[in-house]
Amino acid sequence: MRLFIAIPMSGEMKDALGRMQRQMRDQRIAGRFTPPENLHLTLAFIGEYPNPDAVFLPRVKPFAIELDGFGSFGDLWWAGLKPCPPLRRYVLALRHALAYDNIPFDRKKFSPHITLLRGGVGVPALTVPRAEMVVDHVSLMRSDRGKRGMIYTELRASEPWDPAWDDG
Ligand code: ATP
Ligand code: MG
Repeated sequence: MRLFIAIPMSGEMKDALGRMQRQMRDQRIAGRFTPPENLHLTLAFIGEYPNPDAVFLPRVKPFAIELDGFGSFGDLWWAGLKPCPPLRRYVLALRHALAYDNIPFDRKKFSPHITLLRGGVGVPALTVPRAEMVVDHVSLMRSDRGKRGMIYTELRASEPWDPAWDDG
């Protein structure tokens, strides 16, 4: 099966991302818009791998992420995040754990983005809404090609952090 590890978006983040998509539609930008239930931030792309139980998901010490900016990779348009050192540190730890366990993953540099539109035609001018969320877990996701676009299914989530581990 096709696997990846991601942060699912909160309702508030989905609303804000939906407003960005609304702006694009209002500007007559065409393409395949990510449906709300598919909005996510990919942390590691594993790809085809038969054994999801072997994938260790380090616990997340909760931190906040905040929307900031937007951009494109070719015709793919995304929303960006404010620089977030705890997110970077988590992704490093996650990828180290995958490598240690010999789970294959794409080692391209982590470039946090939330895909809003694929196959976009036109160049949008967007106002990024103010939105943030607390990240307290990550999810192991399975990706399947459905009749009408991709279907992502959460297979497992990381265990919760224990506040007793916090110093101070
Ligand atoms: P499609 O590939 O059909 O357009 P998709 O990209 O939504 O659909 P997947 O290719 O299964 O679905 O990807 C799942 C997630 O992993 C997406 O967030 C995607 O951007 C990301 N991803 C896919 N391939 C890679 C890769 N080689 N490296 C990093 N991230 C990837
Ligand atoms: Mg893809």
